[in-house]
Parts: sequence; structure tokens; C-alpha cells
Amino acid sequence: MVTDTFDVVVLGHGIAGLSAAVSAMQHGAKVAVLERAPSEESGGCTRYTEAFLRLKSETELSDDFDEEMAEVASANPDPTLVNEMASAQSSWGNIVRAMSATDPEYLATFSREAVPTISWLKSFGIRFIPTHLPQITCRDDTPMITPSGGGAAMLEALTRTALEGGVKFFYETTGRSLIEDESGKIVGLRAVGRHNVRVDLSACAVVLASGGFEGSPEMLARYVGPGSANIRPIARGAHYNRGEGIRMAFEVGAAASGDFGKYHSTPIDERSGRTEAKVLIFPFGIVVNRRGRRFVDEGSGADYNNYDRVCHAIQTQPNGIGYMILDARIDDIPSYMKAVFTDQPPIRAESIAEMAGKLGLSPSVLEETVQAFNQACRPGTFVPSRADGLRTVGLELPKSNWARSIEKPPFIAYPIIPSGIITFGGVKTNARAEVVNADGDCIPGLYAAGAMVGVYYRRYPAATSVLRGATFGRIAGESAAKASLADGVRKTRGARVASAAGA
Ligand SMILES: Cc1cc2nc3c(=O)[nH]c(=O)nc-3n(C[C@H](O)[C@H](O)[C@H](O)COP(=O)(O)OP(=O)(O)OC[C@H]3O[C@@H](n4cnc5c(N)ncnc54)[C@H](O)[C@@H]3O)c2cc1C
Repeated sequence: MVTDTFDVVVLGHGIAGLSAAVSAMQHGAKVAVLERAPSEESGGCTRYTEAFLRLKSETELSDDFDEEMAEVASANPDPTLVNEMASAQSSWGNIVRAMSATDPEYLATFSREAVPTISWLKSFGIRFIPTHLPQITCRDDTPMITPSGGGAAMLEALTRTALEGGVKFFYETTGRSLIEDESGKIVGLRAVGRHNVRVDLSACAVVLASGGFEGSPEMLARYVGPGSANIRPIARGAHYNRGEGIRMAFEVGAAASGDFGKYHSTPIDERSGRTEAKVLIFPFGIVVNRRGRRFVDEGSGADYNNYDRVCHAIQTQPNGIGYMILDARIDDIPSYMKAVFTDQPPIRAESIAEMAGKLGLSPSVLEETVQAFNQACRPGTFVPSRADGLRTVGLELPKSNWARSIEKPPFIAYPIIPSGIITFGGVKTNARAEVVNADGDCIPGLYAAGAMVGVYYRRYPAATSVLRGATFGRIAGESAAKASLADGVRKTRGARVASAAGA
């Protein structure tokens, strides 16, 4: 068994965990980071993301930042509780303190601390460049920034800084449970290394930053429900996120927060093992299931969440797969390959019947589906870069935009499945990243940050997850270091008093 003692132990090596570790180190704490993956694969989702950040520039949030975050902060909350939440926090009752909703102080802190966090990250040599989300059904009018080199560059800079500052890393070490003392304070973390060797680390404070549960089929089934086995983690790093951080926090009484039944997703090519093998051109065609039938409005909107809507619908179809079918007029959209990230070529056919044969679908049913769809299309102006209102008429399941008939060979198809990018359910923290229990009181010594903290309901406001991980990771590290150092001073004083009393 391995044992050691630290001021702060951090679980997870993604943006949230490393931000917490470096911040705690800067505030004078002796820090350890535990990471399930080997070092070259460490960093969970963060390693694989380009890391779009919802900021207009390094010094300004995007115009809709506060509005977007507030809109997803809860689902159908009781208005009397919302009113109570608007009053001073000291007056909140048990229900509001532990409520499954993001509290206004957390949102205000995110809004206030995001830009200073960017300056903080820059101090480690991370550079930021302007960018736009790579989607073609929206005009490129939402400026964002991204770290040069993506999430991997952030991990590299923070790891280097942490190592220089003496942070100790335990790779291939998986956190299992928290250690509580008899007063209910968290005083360490129990883990296992390779070959099931036990690792017990004592600490004055623990920061949980082990991501969501995209890599846990069991938790996906429990929370996301039917068809969840069809969801594939979008990148290798997401397989490491199996929800233990959330589970171990629940075991010590943490409150749940975030929309447990929902997750952020984009359709990916079922044939590809590439990171983010997205195929985002489905709004320009139709998507059918294995029965050859449409099952979703492929053009329900130009917003980023159209991807989620389509993926959630595919999840519960037979075998959890959809087939996107388009015709040669996709070539009218010069930039369409910007939205195709798979390394697999499209399946091509000269007729719908031939395409059905190649996809293993019934030719007669697919022909019937395409014919019914084509008959419902009306003349109008097709505008790929915005919701153009070109909708079908008379179909029970409409297509609301970009509805052009599918008639010009060659036809192309991609088999698509839902990917798991961010799960929404997690633990509840306050604005200081302290984990609150199911009665809304802080669990002493326990902090959490990043994707394992539940804040999103119904939908994901694009480009907020990495930023949230960095912002609250930094806050968690500071809070944990300050509390642990205060705890250390208290213990030293206590020991002095005890030895004086004994003398
Ligand atoms: C391909 C892709 C593209 C994305 N694009 C964007 C984007 O553009 N903008 C954006 O904001 N977000 C994006 N996201 C989401 C974003 O990357 C994540 O939500 C964010 O990085 C989460 O950070 P985190 O530190 O909370 O978790 P992660 O980065 O996932 O890190 C969690 C860490 O915990 C470790 N771990 C898990 N369980 C244990 C355990 N029991 N013991 C020890 N270690 C454990 C994991 O190995 C991992 O290192 C994207 C994600 C992916 C995969």
C-alpha cells in the first residue's frame, strides 16, 4: 500500500484538475494530482478539444454569455423558490440551498472570473487566438477564442508549471472513495494504482475534478436511459471519465445538480475511430433509421443544439444508428466539407434503391420515404448559412428548414451515431467551489470543479465547459489551499495547546 500526506489532493488531470492544482500550489499548498490514465494519455476530454471559449476576445465575454448561462441554469423551477434564491444567501432555507439549480452567485462568479482566468492562463505561456464555431448552418457571427494548440496546449503548460512548483503526480491511479473523519470532514482520498495496489492519500482538502460520466455505460444507462449504450465517447479521453468523482461525492452526502438525463452530443460517423469524427451536414438532407423511415426534424434550427436534438433521437432508434442521405446538390454549398470531420468517405450510389442496398435497408421503403419527402418540398430560396424557412408541407414529421428534394445523383450517405461529449448531471457546489450536501451545507474539506459539477439543464451553451473548468478549477484550488493551510495552523496550534496542557 502507498500512503502519503498532502495539503490538497486533486482528482483528475483535465483543465479543472490542473487549474486547481496550480492554483493551490500558488497559494502555498503541498499538492498531489491523481490521474487514472498514463501520463501520455492524461487529461480526459481536455486533451482532445480545440477548446472554443465563449469570449469575444481575451478581455471580453461574448455578448450573450450571461443570458445563455442563466437560461440553462434550471428546469421548470418553482417560482417561489426562484424568488427565495434571489434574496440574500444567508436567508435561504434548506430546499433552496440544496436545490437542483445553479445559484445566481455561481453564475455571477463565472461571469466575473472568466476573463481574469484567461489572464491567469496566459501567465503560464498559453496563447489565445480568435476563432468561430465550425458550423455552416449559422452565420459566423459569434466570435470566440481558443488556446493555440487547443486543450492539449493548456494541459502541457499547466503540467509544466505544476511540476516546476513541486506538485506530485500519481498517474495510473484511480480515485475510489473519500476518507472522512468522525466529524464529517474530508481528510483524504482512497485510490488504486496498477495491479490494484492501494493508494491512500491524507489531505486537509480534496478537489474532485474527474469529469463527467461519458465513459461509464452503467451511469449513462442509469441516468440517460434507453438507448444509452448507443452513445460513443467522442474521443479517447472521454473513456476515462467513469463518474467515480460524482459517485464518491454522493457517498458522503453531496447534493445532485444538473440535468442528469441529458448530455451534449454531435453525430459522428459510426465507421470512424477518429477523435470527433463529426458529420454535420445532415440538415441538408434527410436522416432515416434502419427501417428506412425518417424519425426527426433534420432542419429544426440553425442553433448549435440541433446536433443534440438529432443525436438524442438517433439514440433510441433501432441499433442507435441513423443514415444521413443527401444528393449531389450538396456541392452547391462550397464550404460543406468544413462540417465533415470523419476520415471515412461517404457511401455513394446512383439511385436510392442502390443506396438502400449499400446501407442494408429495404429499397422499397427507402424509395417511399424519399418520394414522400420530395413531394412535401416546395420551391423557395435555399440559404445554407441560416435557418431559411424552406420547409416541407404536409408531412406529419416536417423538416423545418433547408428542405430541398433529394433527386440528383450521385447520392451520398453517412451512417451516424450519437457521441458523448459532456454529461450534464453532477454535484452541486457554491461559488467558492465548495461541495454542498443534500441539505445545502458545505462538506468541510471537499471541493469540485469542471464537468463533474452539474450546471446545465436541457441544453449546452457552446464553448462554456473548458472555460468553466479553468475558472472554477482555479477557484477550487485557492479555496482548498486557504482552507487547508488554515486547518494546518489550527492543528499546529491545537498540538501546541495539547502539549502545553500535557506539560
Ligand atoms: C472532442 C471534444 C471537443 C470538445 N469541444 C469543446 C469546446 O470547443 N469547448 C468547450 O468548452 N468544451 C469542449 N468540450 C468539452 C470539454 O473538453 C470538457 O467538458 C472539459 O474539458 C472538461 O474538463 P474537466 O477537467 O472537467 O474534465 P476532463 O478534461 O475530462 O478531465 C477529467 C480527468 O479526470 C480523470 N479521471 C476520471 N476519473 C478518474 C478517477 N476515478 N481517478 C483518477 N482520475 C480520473 C480523467 O482521466 C481525466 O484526466 C469538448 C470535448 C471533447 C472530447
